[in-house]
Amino acid sequence: MSQPSPLNIIQPDEYRGRFAPSPSGPLHFGSLVAAVGGYLQAKVNKGKWFLRIDDIDPPRQAASAIDDILTCLQAHHLDWDGEVFYQSQQTEVYDKVLAWLNENGLSYYCQCTRKQIMAEGGTYLGHCRDRNLTPVNEVIGADGHSQYSLRFLNEVSSLSFHDELMGDIRFPEDVSSEDFIIKRKDGLYAYHLASVVDDIQQGITEVVRGADLLFPSACQMALYRALGASVPKMLHLPVAVFSEGRKLSKQGHAKGLDNKKASLNLYLALAFLGLPVPKTLMHDTPEVILQWGQDNWLINRLYAKPERAMPMFLAEYQVSNFSY
Ligand code: GLU
Ligand code: ZN
Repeated sequence: MSQPSPLNIIQPDEYRGRFAPSPSGPLHFGSLVAAVGGYLQAKVNKGKWFLRIDDIDPPRQAASAIDDILTCLQAHHLDWDGEVFYQSQQTEVYDKVLAWLNENGLSYYCQCTRKQIMAEGGTYLGHCRDRNLTPVNEVIGADGHSQYSLRFLNEVSSLSFHDELMGDIRFPEDVSSEDFIIKRKDGLYAYHLASVVDDIQQGITEVVRGADLLFPSACQMALYRALGASVPKMLHLPVAVFSEGRKLSKQGHAKGLDNKKASLNLYLALAFLGLPVPKTLMHDTPEVILQWGQDNWLINRLYAKPERAMPMFLAEYQVSNFSY
């Protein structure tokens, strides 16, 4: 039997959502869709909408990205509640949670390389689970990396869940039972660990984000349960893809949003989400557009597929001068 949770579990009596961009580049149209969706869902539920900066991966961070993200959200009048929450300031909490997982036999060291895992089909199959590896007298590589990552011993795999937009989702077996990485060989905490710990710390009642994270939610659910917390509601929004089916991403060099076109951007984000937003609104102010969004927000009106192709969407809306 595990010891009591290492975290202070709070059960707020209000709705709490969050937007959690990684500062790997400026916000692009896909990020805006997630921000607008999360913001409106929080407003309609008379709750809080927090901003969390996922800055735990310095090698992938762009120098001015955090400032750019804050400026961009302000230009679009997506005003968050309270102080900005920075993951880079949470290391002590992650350390504490990691120690607790170790003490409770819920983590183990793994030496597998990406190449080995790819050769096995791309999913980690638990190769080091019973090897009892312990990094004593370890020789650290010239790159400063350890030979060991730490994995979560996933015994509480979640097979299915209900998404507030996408409906009942069944996770592929290999995804739901994977012993995923919680601390990387380069010593950095992995996204799943940090994200779940922070959602618990902030008492998030509903996670609204892009559907690219629909299946990875399985990992997070197992972790919430292991840490003694209940899983928040989940609402995954459609992600914008290029015609080739490629996701718009900061790494994929999707263009940063033009803050001078905030109204057009917001209008398109609402339309992309599936709301019947009147065309005249694109010439109005961001405040008016967001107010319209609040007044007309209904989950069952939203586009309920994980991906939506940008070129087709823009053609449908007869917008040709939008770069994404
Ligand atoms: N930081 C993650 C990203 O930008 C999103 C995290 C989340 O919403 O859970 O993809
Ligand atoms: Zn391994």
